[in-house]
Amino acid sequence: MVNAEYNVKEMQQFLSMTNGLYDIVRLVDPVECRQITIEDGSVRINEGCYNVWDSSQRCINCSSYKACMGGQRREKEEFFADKVYHILSNPVKLRLDDGTVLKCVIEFITSHTASEQERARTNDRANEAYESASLIDPLTGLLNWDGFHQGARKLLLKHKDEPCLIIACDILKFKLINSLFGRQKGNDVLIEIAGLLRPYASEDILVGRLQADQFALCMPKALFSEESLALSINEITNLLNEGSYRLRFQAGVYEIVDPELPIAVMYDRAVMANVTTREDSGSPIHWFNESMLEDLLYQQEVTSGFEKTLAAGEYQIFIQPQVDEEGRVAGGEALARWIKPDGTIVPPIKFIPVLEKAGLISRLDRHVWELAAKQLAAWKDTDLGHLHISVNISALDFYYIDVYRVLLDLVEKYGIDRKKLKLEITETAVMNDVEKQILRVQDLRNAGFAVEIDDFGAGYSSLAMLKDIEADVLKIDMGFLRETEHADRSRRVLEAIVRMAGKLSMDTITEGVETKDQVEMLTAMGCHQFQGFYFAKPMPVPEFEKFALQFSMQPLTC
Ligand code: C2E
Ligand code: CA
Ligand code: CA
Repeated sequence: MVNAEYNVKEMQQFLSMTNGLYDIVRLVDPVECRQITIEDGSVRINEGCYNVWDSSQRCINCSSYKACMGGQRREKEEFFADKVYHILSNPVKLRLDDGTVLKCVIEFITSHTASEQERARTNDRANEAYESASLIDPLTGLLNWDGFHQGARKLLLKHKDEPCLIIACDILKFKLINSLFGRQKGNDVLIEIAGLLRPYASEDILVGRLQADQFALCMPKALFSEESLALSINEITNLLNEGSYRLRFQAGVYEIVDPELPIAVMYDRAVMANVTTREDSGSPIHWFNESMLEDLLYQQEVTSGFEKTLAAGEYQIFIQPQVDEEGRVAGGEALARWIKPDGTIVPPIKFIPVLEKAGLISRLDRHVWELAAKQLAAWKDTDLGHLHISVNISALDFYYIDVYRVLLDLVEKYGIDRKKLKLEITETAVMNDVEKQILRVQDLRNAGFAVEIDDFGAGYSSLAMLKDIEADVLKIDMGFLRETEHADRSRRVLEAIVRMAGKLSMDTITEGVETKDQVEMLTAMGCHQFQGFYFAKPMPVPEFEKFALQFSMQPLTC
């Protein structure tokens, strides 16, 4: 159960189940040293947990704090009022109803009256133990994690009748500085940033460096000036860009709605605002809003039970027909769908980015590849035996799994022809770390797989990539032709792409084909295959089988 995640109801059950087994079982937030209780499904955050030992603040040896920070179980003995307390600190995560996760610790405590020997032993230890924890970050002189949390709690109490803010700032891709220029340079940068943020610090404004490049501020809203912070942030960004690298400093702001929440949760929300919106490069300051929590809840719905959902067969494939120039179905693309038990069909745009972010995409992709391989095996020696299936390979698959090995194992397991399992690799998958990718793609081709470059034309570096990567098929994205004011120019670009593919001995397939005019135009240009709503939408496998049977012999009217 170390680091296990419980929702509020599960945590309440767990605490009541274990309660009789020890003298005390309690849940604590060791960062703020507060005890957490759960009654009838509602969470209450109480006052100091250290006061059990008659202390006024946490000591540097707090084993629950260390367990929480290190994510490892710890044990300790405390001696107090003639008794010895044995404390087992077990780090866990409490998922609050709004989806935010609080790192905390369950303390299992047993006690007995101390013997003379124990009294002598623990007395010595107790004296050294109650030295209080440091509150200052030695590198920058700002408040550290503890100092900020303690200070923020006091500040919120002092200003309890007015709105307050927590602001989280950090450098986008700070790790780059450390890895390119070394830790010393990284430290110099942090000291300079601290120098620019320090002037904000006052009796009512806290400024801290919580860890690495994570800076934080806490203040009453009335003292906050967005313009002034934006100026400082731009100044810091300019400072970061003096060298040969381009980095950005950004801030997320959380307006505190419930001051009872742990400071760590408030800070996480400010971070969430910072991270969620960082893709758009406009303002350097982003405010938290409730929809970010909804996104988080949705992400948890997708990821928390993912393995179970996958095993239960809820992730299935739809197949979208791919049609040759004579209008015959040559095969199809396997596209993932999440089909929930109530019959709702969730499209991939809703879960693929979430799985990519959570590092789970390769689990889904392996599953989809396996379904495709199984399907090809089922079609073998039937009237559908000539069909191929194309599967998608995500850029991240290459990082998480040995794509080459997994695919070879699959074709072997199902005894299928490698040429029938086509691999769609997006150009972004190939663009990162080009040289290694070239070798991997080459390995796949040498092993007999047909490799297609997916979404060609949707990105920006397509031509440079074509120079380096040999593939069998160019899959052209119709997207860049759609709704353009320059229809004639786009048509000529398309024509040039098809011709160029021919010169590189690559076949072409165009996807997103929606009209008869497009098919005629593409056929005249020499495109070999088509995929698009004009012919058919992605469909469940049994429907695809019927469709393919009907249109394998007799062509679709183009
Ligand atoms: P994609 O690989 O480019 O797949 C084609 C997408 O275009 C499909 O959307 C398909 O329904 C849609 N499409 C096909 N014809 C037309 C058309 O004529 N007009 C328009 N407007 N759209 C058309 P879908 O199934 O929603 O998939 C979206 C994306 O999700 C895929 O884009 C692919 O990037 C990703 N995806 C789907 N399944 C998987 C999977 O198993 N693994 C991975 N890694 N990605 C997948
Ligand atoms: Ca694709
Ligand atoms: Ca595509």
